Amino acid sequence: MSIAQAHRTAAKHHPRRIAIFGGSFDPIHNGHLSVARAADRRFNFDELHFIPASRPPHKLKQHLAPFPHRFAMVALACTEHPHFVPSLAEAGEDFSGTQLHYSVDTVRYFRNVYHGHGDHLFFIIGADAFLDIPMWKEYETLLGLCDFIIANRPGIRPEAMRLVIPPDLMARPDAKKEAEYPSQVVAHLHKSIIYLLESVSSDVSATDVRRQAHRGQSIHGLVSARVEEYILKQGLYR
Ligand code: ATP
Repeated sequence: MSIAQAHRTAAKHHPRRIAIFGGSFDPIHNGHLSVARAADRRFNFDELHFIPASRPPHKLKQHLAPFPHRFAMVALACTEHPHFVPSLAEAGEDFSGTQLHYSVDTVRYFRNVYHGHGDHLFFIIGADAFLDIPMWKEYETLLGLCDFIIANRPGIRPEAMRLVIPPDLMARPDAKKEAEYPSQVVAHLHKSIIYLLESVSSDVSATDVRRQAHRGQSIHGLVSARVEEYILKQGLYR
């Protein structure tokens, strides 16, 4: 076996840290990117997959740019970082992004692809979205499928996040696991850990970006330069 082959074999067996970060990304903005970069600094991911959510037909009336635009902007933003990957996991078989997808199924898909090799899966989510998690399909199962990293958003206290976790999912703290990553722990569950990324406090939201663009105001500094250019060229959110 050549040295190069040996390296490749060794690399294959090294368990990788894979993060998934889903959202409407309408559009992806600097708040998302600072969360992703901060999480990457703490947890040192091998890959961080940004997953634009599909827009199911029954929500077509809800204001949301078509999937191809949201995916294109995610792909442009991902060019800034070697580990950031734009994901088509919720694009559907026809790539239209109009089929209904639930996070629990998306995480199962990633587990099938990566977990078998012993890779470590993390789900990145903003604190506001985490507070809504009890509304999600099979959320108790979802919370046990991988570790979670909650990015704090201004005005949300860590205690509020513990309150949405059913008490029977909670386990005794595991000091060894806790020491593995230098991040505050919100809760130890039987099969997973919920971490808090408390240092990011960007108050940019996609709503702000759309509002500014709609009013014809500059969105410079709210989204990456390539995304800004795309929004202007395509005339989005006018
Ligand atoms: P909108 O304003 O349209 O509701 P948003 O800015 O919250 O959108 P989404 O695409 O819905 O963006 O968010 C995807 C994920 O990123 C969610 O988990 C959300 O909580 C999180 N998120 C978005 N902006 C921030 C931010 N500034 N800080 C921390 N988390 C964020």
